[in-house]
Amino acid sequence: MPKFVRVLLDESGGRSFDYEIPAAATDAVVVGSRVRVPVRTRAVLGTVIAVSETTDADGIREILEVVSGEPPMSPQLIRLAEWVANYYCCPLEAALRTALPGVIRKAEVGHKTRLAARLAREISAEEIETIRRRAPNQAEVIIALQATQGAMLVSELAEKCSVAPQTVKALAKKGILTIESETVARDPHGSETFVPNAKLELNAEQAVVFAKVCEAVDGASPPKPILLHGVTGSGKTEIYLQAIERVLERGGGAILLVPEISLTPQTVERFKSRFAATHHEVAVLHSHLSEGERHDEWHRIRSGAARVVIGARSAVFAPVEKLGIVIVDEEHENTYKQEETPRYHGRDLAVLRGHIEKCAVLLGSATPSLESYHNAVTGKYELLRLTLRVDDQKMPFIRIVDMRMEAKKSSPILSDPLTAAITARLEKKEQVILFLNRRGFSTTLLCGKCGYVHECPNCSISLTFHRAANRVVCHMCGHLAVAPTKCPGCKDPGIKYTGTGTEKVEDTVCRFFPKAIVKRMDADVMQRREAYRETLNAFRTGKIDILVGTQMIAKGLHFPNVTLVGIVNADMGLHLPDFRASERTFQLLTQVAGRAGRGDVEGEVVVQSYTPFHPAIQFARHHDFEGFYEQEIEWRQKMGQPPFTHFILITVRSPHQERGRFSTETLHRRLKEVLLANVTLGEFAPAPLEKSHGNFRFHIAIRAQGILKVSRMIRDVLDRLTMPEDVFAVVDVDAMQLM
Ligand code: ADP
Ligand code: ZN
Repeated sequence: MPKFVRVLLDESGGRSFDYEIPAAATDAVVVGSRVRVPVRTRAVLGTVIAVSETTDADGIREILEVVSGEPPMSPQLIRLAEWVANYYCCPLEAALRTALPGVIRKAEVGHKTRLAARLAREISAEEIETIRRRAPNQAEVIIALQATQGAMLVSELAEKCSVAPQTVKALAKKGILTIESETVARDPHGSETFVPNAKLELNAEQAVVFAKVCEAVDGASPPKPILLHGVTGSGKTEIYLQAIERVLERGGGAILLVPEISLTPQTVERFKSRFAATHHEVAVLHSHLSEGERHDEWHRIRSGAARVVIGARSAVFAPVEKLGIVIVDEEHENTYKQEETPRYHGRDLAVLRGHIEKCAVLLGSATPSLESYHNAVTGKYELLRLTLRVDDQKMPFIRIVDMRMEAKKSSPILSDPLTAAITARLEKKEQVILFLNRRGFSTTLLCGKCGYVHECPNCSISLTFHRAANRVVCHMCGHLAVAPTKCPGCKDPGIKYTGTGTEKVEDTVCRFFPKAIVKRMDADVMQRREAYRETLNAFRTGKIDILVGTQMIAKGLHFPNVTLVGIVNADMGLHLPDFRASERTFQLLTQVAGRAGRGDVEGEVVVQSYTPFHPAIQFARHHDFEGFYEQEIEWRQKMGQPPFTHFILITVRSPHQERGRFSTETLHRRLKEVLLANVTLGEFAPAPLEKSHGNFRFHIAIRAQGILKVSRMIRDVLDRLTMPEDVFAVVDVDAMQLM
């Protein structure tokens, strides 16, 4: 009989204590239960993280109250959270906070209830007339309720009859109607209706893949994770849909992770409408939900009402019971990595959750991450392929423009070949996408006389000029200032705006093609959510000729009439001090190219580059993922980079440069003292982005074969190290952000 529990307190910095289970509550307390326990003189909420028959703690006290009957977290989810804490080197409390969203833990956000009125009995016409003589308003209310033949919200009823809510309540007092509170679901897609979309007949390639996925779903033994490498438009999503259907038929549930940016109404609609036919509800989890919506979606999942969950990375913690499959679309996407504590990777957790729940895991991408592909090649994952587009379209033709030759000519933004290609497409009334992954007009303000570069006062990057707003903006911290007309250094009026952002591309395109309708899509113009939808709709219906944008337009959008995609500067991400720079460039080019030619017309891609022979560009040009993988993996192995090692980055930051440097040095020394075998500790150095948000930043890089032991070691060292109050250390395991 378990008699004791360890309780992780919601407050007090994630400490846990042991408590005794009151005899009457033995059956009610399990791992995951929420309990109220005494801490000194107060009663505090916490989560049970372990139950046991013994304890070696003294002066043990009893649990005061078991909060909800049903524990909000399954033992599997608790295990997942524990793993997050151990692997990503963070307090268990932080991991649990992520696994169990704040709105669920907080008592004050409950279910939404409303008051509904219904007639308590039959009311005859004569009786209504009698009432009308004394209180005409009340008679109207009765007539309105008779007309609806059911319940109506008190507020709506009052509004419909133009009476005060008190009038309705007065009728309730007389016993003519009853008022009850009912729970209403805050469904973020409640106002939309879904026409069932029929299951498609799979083509030969898809059928082979689907059969394998079914084996994983149906199989008795825990399956290997599957990596589905399928070119854009090869019908991966259809496979996801049918795999989920299979799981539902078997009585299980499913989680589909998609990058936040792809979680568009169209994506949700495609899933909701497919499962509408079999009356399966789909819950959606993403960061734009209100607290109330999140609360209700979570409970819809927890109660089993919704067995399919679509969401961004945190949906990997969705409380789905009898999980049958976890799918990660676009598994290579960086946005699956959370860039705040706990710094987990949604895709890696998906694989782990599948392992814990012994269910199928399906990772899909047109450009798999080197890590996942390596796992597939070495047999840890099963590798499946879709090599053909469903519509039989050829892959778009990719032309590389050598900008070193173009630089001397007319425009440094639109080369002659790109200009000619745009002209040709516009003449045929086809549509064009121009892509540049940088917002703003000019990215650098440089004084030609004294060499002054206008930098952010808080960050070591230069300010970006936004012409429409006539402001200079820091893309790191948001610092904003009026654009200077003179050099802030030497007061020379000849300050130059150099470097190109989307705003300047838009400006140039408008000048080159005055008759075309040009629209820009980036975080600056798309601050409202509706603006994003409106622009996409306008583009889809042909009201825009040329769409200029950042990665916002690179992802998963289908536009049949887009036949030309221009990549304004392919080199942008290539020369960063980041071992994934090539991989990211290859992925980006391939994904952007996938936007061209999805209709009946063959697509074309023009890539402008100053390093046209770079392997990332050349392999992307030939749609050669394997070729890229082979040469990149060889380099990674030679350099001891991931996936051959795990990369852990410790960032120390402080508003005080010297204190930051000193603490980094001390930390580095301590780490060196306890260094394990198979672990390489790099030298400490200022971060490439030396200053951000007013903080000086230092890096310590660690490469290791396994993680759990190293993570423990780092945690121990940090716990024992006292740092000045204004110095912070952040550990990032499997870091993606290296700046
Ligand atoms: P991916 O996810 O690989 O980019 P999708 O699943 O979105 O590809 O498929 C691309 C298009 O092809 C979609 O419009 C989809 O409805 C259609 N499609 C997918 N599979 C089939 C099929 N077996 N038969 C007909 N159309 C299909
Ligand atoms: Zn800044």
